[in-house]
Amino acid sequence: SYRKGGYHAVRIGDSFAGGRYIAQQKLGWGQFSTVWLAYDTQSSKYVALKIQKSSPQFAQAALHEIEILSAVTAGDPSNIKCVVHLVDHFKHAGPNGQHLCMVLEFLGDSLLRLIKYNRYKGLEFNKVREICKCILTSLDYLHGELGLIHTDLKPENILLCTTINPSKDPIRSGMTPTLERPEGNANGGISISTIEKKLKQRARRAVAKISERRVSMGGVGMVPKPARCLDGIDLRCKVVDFGNACWADRPIAEEIQTRQYRAPEVILQSGYSFAADMWSFACTAFELATGEMMFTPKTGQGFSEDEDHLAMMMEFLGKMPRKIATGGARSKDYFDRYGDLKRIRRLKYGSLDRLLIEKYKFSDADARELADFLSPILNFEPEKRPTARQCLQHPWLNIENQTHGEVKSESSVEKVNVGMSNLQIKLHK
Ligand code: ADP
Ligand code: MG
Repeated sequence: SYRKGGYHAVRIGDSFAGGRYIAQQKLGWGQFSTVWLAYDTQSSKYVALKIQKSSPQFAQAALHEIEILSAVTAGDPSNIKCVVHLVDHFKHAGPNGQHLCMVLEFLGDSLLRLIKYNRYKGLEFNKVREICKCILTSLDYLHGELGLIHTDLKPENILLCTTINPSKDPIRSGMTPTLERPEGNANGGISISTIEKKLKQRARRAVAKISERRVSMGGVGMVPKPARCLDGIDLRCKVVDFGNACWADRPIAEEIQTRQYRAPEVILQSGYSFAADMWSFACTAFELATGEMMFTPKTGQGFSEDEDHLAMMMEFLGKMPRKIATGGARSKDYFDRYGDLKRIRRLKYGSLDRLLIEKYKFSDADARELADFLSPILNFEPEKRPTARQCLQHPWLNIENQTHGEVKSESSVEKVNVGMSNLQIKLHK
């Protein structure tokens, strides 16, 4: 893809925008772009530099993304809405053509990485809750205030905020790391300075551990992973990748979303709106809690990936109402007029809590709590799904305010450890 109309080849140390940005290392890539960590000599900060492929169709897509990112950034001057901010944009001429470049605030690892670090076992509920609050804050903002549908919400497109500042990377500089300031305090609760203090302590401990290990392992290639240093602290994240986002009154594509996070109304082509993002949100929350994607449909003998997907939805969530099953432009391809799948018969209609108990070995209480939060969002009828604003009010996300036997903070964990038996501590988990 490094040819005319394709990616721009970057070498470390290359400069952009008349010398303002200096490329440091590659952060990632997508179908349309490569993303680089760059140093902004004007603000003395690290930024993420997204360099688009150069052909006209990619330039057009970049212009669209810049338009959306500009609106997203302008509407959130205090930077508290859990969305990535656009810092700057410009054109860069290279051997493969003119590349549109976006300068974004630099963020940390994606939630997909976080799930991997946890060895696909699922995160503890307190962490899932914190992440869900951030995602819902961003969706409430995008949907409620801007009228935007993200259309590609998934763990890969949600990045952690708390990152070790690379300028103080202890491995490279031998210094104690400082941390980037966590933005705002959207949930209320712990103050920024408390979070910052905790982060610094955690980072110091983690770095000490990593240095020990480096020495014992002969010091090869161990770079600190921020997500591993974050046990017990407030996790914050931001939604990124607005390349496919659209204004709700101007939908662009008929087929949206990454397969596993795709809503039933998109598969059936019944028209979509904000509720399609809510479906993807629920799939993402499920994945954080269980460590596995909720739906992984496959083409089989005599049926398509779409049909497998619809069958899985009904096996996990119950039968789709006939009106919904038969109401889309593509319904006739999959369903008969009774609302039964034509090519996959004899489904075992189940429910989310049964899935969590039987497949993922959740306790009855945990399964009930999570299913109570997620089931309404996974309603087959998009109009009946709660909005992001309504989800933010759900008791499961505000459990700290309840007398639920839930451990409130690290310090109270320590108190519990001092004063109670092991048995009682287990009851709190
Ligand atoms: P695409 O639209 O091509 O999928 P993305 O915007 O999703 O591009 O970026 C591709 C990858 O680059 C992301 O998955 C992530 O790893 C990395 N990345 C993107 N934006 C940032 C950022 N602001 N900070 C750090 N890494 C980023
Ligand atoms: Mg992406």
